[in-house]
Amino acid sequence: MKKLYELPQLPYSYDALEPYISREQLRIHYEVHHKGYVDGANKLLQMMDEARAEGRAFDVKATLKLLSFNIGGHVLHTMYWHNMAPTGKGGGVPGGRIGDKIVEDFGSFERFRNEFTEAALTVEGSGWAALTYCRLANRLIIAQVEKHNVNLYPAFPILLVVDVFEHAYYIDYKNDRRKYLENWWNLVNWDEVERRFSRLVTT
Ligand code: MN
Repeated sequence: MKKLYELPQLPYSYDALEPYISREQLRIHYEVHHKGYVDGANKLLQMMDEARAEGRAFDVKATLKLLSFNIGGHVLHTMYWHNMAPTGKGGGVPGGRIGDKIVEDFGSFERFRNEFTEAALTVEGSGWAALTYCRLANRLIIAQVEKHNVNLYPAFPILLVVDVFEHAYYIDYKNDRRKYLENWWNLVNWDEVERRFSRLVTT
């Protein structure tokens, strides 16, 4: 059988992000929502495999739209888990190459944090804010992603993402996206962001 997507292990325990993200919030987000995108993507892949094998048609337009949504969800959630660190091990102001680059491109870390937070706060409907890097312009560029797949820049690697679907915070924060984001900054795993950035810049 052809390879399918797999729900990856979380890099920490369910209570590792408390008090900023509760055990129950993290468990449901991972076990129900992230798993739902993995299962959703796999179902579509299998449906297409079967249709191709049997020479049957399928609704290409509807399928590809759903596939993009589900694969986007799977990939973004995987990045999101890894760009958070257990409470006490994340947050603060980044050093390293990424710290320097943020200051170079945004003027200050504070300015970057405010712009990224505003991008996340003002996503229309459900979505993400993502810090990306453009090799062509040698710039960090923020993406305001709607759903899991709209407004992404083609082929720009993602360095940092925050999930602002309500399912990411409603158990802990109800509809208070701003409060969730304020607390989320305490969890950012800057070592991981630095690793992602360092792989892209060779000098
Ligand atoms: Mn999510």
